[in-house]
Amino acid sequence: MSTARHTAPRADLHTHTALCKHASGAPEEYLAAAQKAGLAFWGVSDHFPAPAGYDAAFRMAPDDLPRYFGILDSLRDIADASSLTVLAAAEFDYVPGRMDEVFAELDPLRPKFDYLIGSVHYVGDFAFDDPDKVDEWPRYGVDAVWDGYLTNLENFVKLGGFNVMAHSDLPKKFGFRHSKPETVLRRMTDIYAYAAAKGICLELNTAGLRVTANEIYPAAELLRAAFRAGMRITLGSDAHKPEHIAFAFDEAAELARSVGWTAHTAFVRGEPVELPL
Ligand code: ZN
Ligand code: FE
Ligand code: FE
Ligand code: ZN
Repeated sequence: MSTARHTAPRADLHTHTALCKHASGAPEEYLAAAQKAGLAFWGVSDHFPAPAGYDAAFRMAPDDLPRYFGILDSLRDIADASSLTVLAAAEFDYVPGRMDEVFAELDPLRPKFDYLIGSVHYVGDFAFDDPDKVDEWPRYGVDAVWDGYLTNLENFVKLGGFNVMAHSDLPKKFGFRHSKPETVLRRMTDIYAYAAAKGICLELNTAGLRVTANEIYPAAELLRAAFRAGMRITLGSDAHKPEHIAFAFDEAAELARSVGWTAHTAFVRGEPVELPL
């Protein structure tokens, strides 16, 4: 006798396109993967342009934005007749001291986006999650990178302007761990409280399973803190290839349920839509 139950409709809110220069695959291939995975919502959230001189090699240029919105429009047209809803989003970075420039570019475009993802990928001038810069971690100092990351994340959350907090313990990517995990837990607990008060969702990002860390972002003890803080969650594969779409979502959903969540969130024109886990 079959014990299979109806698979719940899911949303993958964190995926990329080749416009960021470090993802591969045609938009139509991602769409086919999203349909094959049976997603109800697929959010395209490529790396938003940043101020001049910041990380230009790993994100869209301002000149790419018309093409990006064109891709999103055509994907929505193609998916229109199906059960899949394509959502327009972007992942934008916290750039200390230059957020006025970021928001000057981003704010006029907000009506075009269903939601926005906020990320911290730098501490000072160190792109700590860049695989080509792994060897530089000792020079910057593991605890110093973590401490700087948490400060940036805290300041970003206090500033707000986004719906989803991406991969919130990203510095673990290559296996570098803070010497005092209790410090990370304490500071992140405060950050989650600020985020919950602003209605910012916590992302369960399965890309962590594809790197040295070999665990979902964020770790289980942080998930428990976020749940206690009252955060809602999103699921994100952080796909940089079509085959990453909805990567390990059964595992992510099981982890979320084990912590206490019963639903995950999608955003349609800024409005949260709750989906069962
Ligand atoms: Zn990326
Ligand atoms: Fe990211
Ligand atoms: Fe991403
Ligand atoms: Zn990401």
